[in-house]
Amino acid sequence: MTRVRFAPSPTGDLHVGGGRTALFNWLFARKTGGTFILRIEDTDGARNTEDAKRGIEKGLRWLGLDWDEGPDAGGDCGPYFQSQRKDIYDTYLAKLEAADRVYTEDNGAVRFKFSRTAITVHDLVCGDVTFAPTEEPDMTVRRPDGSYIFHFVNVVDDIEMKMTHVFRGEDHLSNTWKHIDLFNAFGATPPIYAHIPLILNSDGSKMSKRDAGSAIEHSYINEGFLPDAVFNYLVMLGWTPRADKEVLGRDELVKLFDPAEIHSSNARFDLQKCQWFNAQYLRALSPEALFAAARPFIEAKGYVIADEATATAAVYSVKEKVSLLTEIPAWVHYFFREDYPFEADVTEKLKAKPENASLLRAAAAAFTTATEWTEASVQTAIEEAAKGAGVKPGALMPLLRGALSGQLRGPGVNTIGHLVGKDSTLRRIERALG
Ligand code: GLU
Repeated sequence: MTRVRFAPSPTGDLHVGGGRTALFNWLFARKTGGTFILRIEDTDGARNTEDAKRGIEKGLRWLGLDWDEGPDAGGDCGPYFQSQRKDIYDTYLAKLEAADRVYTEDNGAVRFKFSRTAITVHDLVCGDVTFAPTEEPDMTVRRPDGSYIFHFVNVVDDIEMKMTHVFRGEDHLSNTWKHIDLFNAFGATPPIYAHIPLILNSDGSKMSKRDAGSAIEHSYINEGFLPDAVFNYLVMLGWTPRADKEVLGRDELVKLFDPAEIHSSNARFDLQKCQWFNAQYLRALSPEALFAAARPFIEAKGYVIADEATATAAVYSVKEKVSLLTEIPAWVHYFFREDYPFEADVTEKLKAKPENASLLRAAAAAFTTATEWTEASVQTAIEEAAKGAGVKPGALMPLLRGALSGQLRGPGVNTIGHLVGKDSTLRRIERALG
């Protein structure tokens, strides 16, 4: 039974690199029917806050990376916060003392005696990486204040939590020999490591917390991405599934996942590509699902949704126009109010020719006499009004669109008219003429 973990140090919003590390661990666990564990590496008390842990959990939940053991989920190997595991670390230190692998310095630090042999990491991604016998001084494992250092607690927890595989960022590869030295000293078998490539900015520079697209909550949740799209995109940063398409659902990705195919070269982050994925996923949603996803973004702008069915249809009618949920309010705001502003090009268009007002009046007259109010009947009324006035429907459409919505782009004019209803359509035309 495979056991893998995501072991973040809670230093703020979940970083995109962390999200992808979690994702590979999760994919592997789900693929192999194993267990995915969340362990919070909060040994560095000064930096870590409840808030930061919240950011990590929120990011993971949003991405749909559910953990089988860890905070909230429980499990047999807890607690899952390193800050609560001091007794376990003390027991493990005693083992190293009994094996004569540690000594205490005058100043109180406890140091681990390196074996000083060549150590090979058999890495699933990087292949065999051999480290020559080290010349570094022996490693402090416990500080004079009694706290333990990262390498020690990381290894102890991987032993105690029975990890079989570790997928983690390549930045940890250079220290993995220290971990293996510790595993050997404890007489434990190291897990199989897979060090995954780093995510760089599109210009090749190292991605930092401040870079666009770097933080899950800030850059994706708040910016109107869909979790499935980000999931799909992140997977592609470091792995190319063997498939003839890029848009792949979770189940397909789980089926296809093969850690041996993870790239060994660094990945370049491309926010536009991520938005492209988002657009594909938005378009594939049902009207109800799209509306549910868009609703918080519409309400955040202060628009009041009075009629859900109309709002659902309105949002669905612009799905081809947007790639982010945050873009939706600007495309549909006029469905929720009649006091929408007229954009400058609309005002210009309405005033461009004196006959434009009479064209609009002709449309209003045709709408007034319409006996039914469907998309088709609105369309027919528009065509008849145009015909009666001796112009092509194409001459009337932009005027009507501008009148009904205040803007010159959007869904079909008949769709707008149908959705806002006959009375509102007539009021909107009057307002534009006024
Ligand atoms: N806490 C470490 C980090 O956030 C994780 C180390 C590991 O996965 O082994 O980088």
